[in-house]
Amino acid sequence: MIYCVSEPFVFVRLEKGEPIVATLTDLCAQLGIRSGWVQAIGAVDRIEYGAWDIDARVYHKQVLEETLEISPISGNIMLKEGKPFLHLHATFAGHDFMARAGHLFEARVNPTLEVFIGVLPELLERRMDDATGLYLAWPL
Ligand code: ZN
Repeated sequence: MIYCVSEPFVFVRLEKGEPIVATLTDLCAQLGIRSGWVQAIGAVDRIEYGAWDIDARVYHKQVLEETLEISPISGNIMLKEGKPFLHLHATFAGHDFMARAGHLFEARVNPTLEVFIGVLPELLERRMDDATGLYLAWPL
């Protein structure tokens, strides 16, 4: 990973084999980013994604191991239980050019991913909402 900071933005380039969510979460903790937004394009060779089942209150998950174009990943950064948490959704397509999408749990970069992070001055956090079973966004 390489990155550069030009406040209020951070550019990050992830390299082959790096896990997207774990690497960006660690970088946010390292840089003290507690609220913001994320936009990324590139490609991966493994992705774990899902869709929330409102009635069962679980994510239906799927893992794909194939070359996929990320077009794009988008999401946000908020504190969850005091630590930076990235909520990311991904749209992606393989060699059939058919788009799929979902909540991104993790993906492995191959060969590169180009990420812009916008850092927000206001702090936001996620709090458990019993009505939905989800950690919803709240201003601090
Ligand atoms: Zn989601």
